[in-house]
Amino acid sequence: MLFQVRPPAPKEADLTTVYDAIVVGSGAAGGMAAHVLTSHGLNVLLLEAGRKLDIESELMSMEWPYDHPRRGEMPRDSHAITLNEYTVRQPPYAQGTEYKHVYSYVQGWGGSDYSKNIVVDEKDHPYTGTKYAWVRARLLGGKTAIWGRLALRLSDYDFKAKTHDGYGEDWPISYADIQPYYDRVDLYLGIGGHKENLPHLPDSLFQRTTRLNPSEVMLRQSLKKMNRVLTPYRAGVTTDGLKHNKYRSKCYGRGACNRRAGGCDIHAAFDSPTGLIYPAMDTGHLTLRTNSTAYEVTVDPATGKARGVAFVDSQSGQHYEAKGKAVVVAASTLESARLLLLSKSNAHPNGIGNSSGHVGHNFCEHVMGPSILGRVKDLVGKPRTLDDGRPGGFYIPRYRNLEERHPKFIRGYGFEGGGGTGMIPGRAFSTPGFGADFKKTVRDEAGAFVHMGGFGEVLSRYESAVSIDPTVKDRWGIPVLKFDYAFGDNEKQMALDMAATGKEMFEAAGIEVLHADSDILTEGWSIHELGTARMGRDPKTSVLNQFQQSHDVKNLFVVDGSSHVSASCQNPTWTIMALAWRSCDHLADELGKGNL
Ligand SMILES: Cc1cc2nc3c(=O)[nH]c(=O)nc-3n(C[C@H](O)[C@H](O)[C@H](O)COP(=O)(O)OP(=O)(O)OC[C@H]3O[C@@H](n4cnc5c(N)ncnc54)[C@H](O)[C@@H]3O)c2cc1C
Ligand code: SF4
Repeated sequence: MLFQVRPPAPKEADLTTVYDAIVVGSGAAGGMAAHVLTSHGLNVLLLEAGRKLDIESELMSMEWPYDHPRRGEMPRDSHAITLNEYTVRQPPYAQGTEYKHVYSYVQGWGGSDYSKNIVVDEKDHPYTGTKYAWVRARLLGGKTAIWGRLALRLSDYDFKAKTHDGYGEDWPISYADIQPYYDRVDLYLGIGGHKENLPHLPDSLFQRTTRLNPSEVMLRQSLKKMNRVLTPYRAGVTTDGLKHNKYRSKCYGRGACNRRAGGCDIHAAFDSPTGLIYPAMDTGHLTLRTNSTAYEVTVDPATGKARGVAFVDSQSGQHYEAKGKAVVVAASTLESARLLLLSKSNAHPNGIGNSSGHVGHNFCEHVMGPSILGRVKDLVGKPRTLDDGRPGGFYIPRYRNLEERHPKFIRGYGFEGGGGTGMIPGRAFSTPGFGADFKKTVRDEAGAFVHMGGFGEVLSRYESAVSIDPTVKDRWGIPVLKFDYAFGDNEKQMALDMAATGKEMFEAAGIEVLHADSDILTEGWSIHELGTARMGRDPKTSVLNQFQQSHDVKNLFVVDGSSHVSASCQNPTWTIMALAWRSCDHLADELGKGNL
């Protein structure tokens, strides 16, 4: 039995006090802001729209399907939106449904009963406009409760992408500026991985890596001949343990990561509450108020600066205002844009921090779809390995548009994948036959499958935007977001190349290709929303400076993925946290000097 330390008791929020900083949102970004600001001794109020769940009893990571009344599936009155629905219908997707609860597509994955309280009910949280698969988690910790844990760094191929290919804007920072903060995130939160010395995917300060299995080693060796790399999944998981954190255990490789939407009940995989928020509460400087949905950053009319945050208690419906010397918005890329746009005043008629008109624009993410499934003939009938017991399989970093130029698209893509034996043997459901022969085939082939899927950079475009819908409101009466966004030709050309090179890599390794998909999934599928309040040097074309500080309102910071200037093709969460750390150091410094 593992020893688990209970969370610290929360302090009552005091709405008569002026906090040093108010942080909105408790996911990767807000959790990091709370950690850094409290470590500077600041008195911080953290407002989180969702509730605090007893996450261990939600995730039930060790429960077997046969111990659950519906083999882990949610009740029949609940529905997960399908790819087809996202493709042929327009949001709001839950409108007119007979289901009691409607959830985003991740609830369609196996074990959906374990995450039904983690993702939002789309009935309460509608949005409008163009089709978009928007996955949201409203609870303490946000999406980090179930994130996929692939923890990657960006490089100057990303930060200086315009210099490299002429498109878009460079970031106002370079790798050298953020590298010390990536290092701090690695050491504070723990990451497993293997050093590769790649200029386009810098190494982290790794703990013990997870091991590749035979099919993955075979693919890695073959890729070397093509000058491409397959590296073990760089997991935001502590594999060796963290002496400074009493809330997290090291990874015991029990494999729940690979069985369900995600989540780790011993918190070896990083999540914001155990990794950042509980330690921040232990400093005595953090007050956490859950069930607090922010709907406006309030303004001091005399100075035009942020005065605090207006919020509604998500359970009682009562309205309140909290006051702070600085406001740190970290509600996630799209929700942060919504909050800024909703915060209209005489001083900021287009929404706070929006004199440039760029809030909500330059929205970008990752394109997904092309994927490939193969079988390694030599492994059929061989002893099975325990491959469920890992937080991830492998990652193939970008190889396009580094030194050479592809004629049809700019930027790049990487592949996430895995091989070997899972709890449900690969292809058991699609293997033909029955009886003893069927069982033998399934068992013989169980460890022989390899699969992977691409994640590509979606270009940041001014016209890719979200705005406030003039009529539709959420359950709390707050106006919702309207999407005006679609993939462009660059993404479509890139996806064709992903499909072709995925197949080429399997064939070169001698892996029999069983299925290759080249179709693009709906906008939003990657759950990597970015860029709605981008950083930049020019206040006319950007919202934030290099410290994620509003150009217009110096005591307002926006520290999540909305600040990203371009999407790159690497998963964003480690970068979100490194940037938030850097910006909150700056905030504390400026506050101390009386500059805010
Ligand atoms: C299934 C899944 C797999 C993923 N896999 C990966 C991966 O492998 N690698 C990777 O890098 N990323 C991955 N991600 C994405 C990752 O989870 C996000 O990048 C990360 O959580 C973003 O952090 P955030 O703080 O900006 O947003 P969130 O984690 O979403 O946190 C935002 C918080 O703000 C709160 N909030 C929202 N609006 C308000 C409001 N008005 N008032 C108060 N609070 C508010 C929310 O309730 C939430 O708690 C995955 C996500 C999912 C769901
Ligand atoms: S494999 Fe490791 S990180 Fe994943 S659920 Fe198990 S213990 Fe947690």
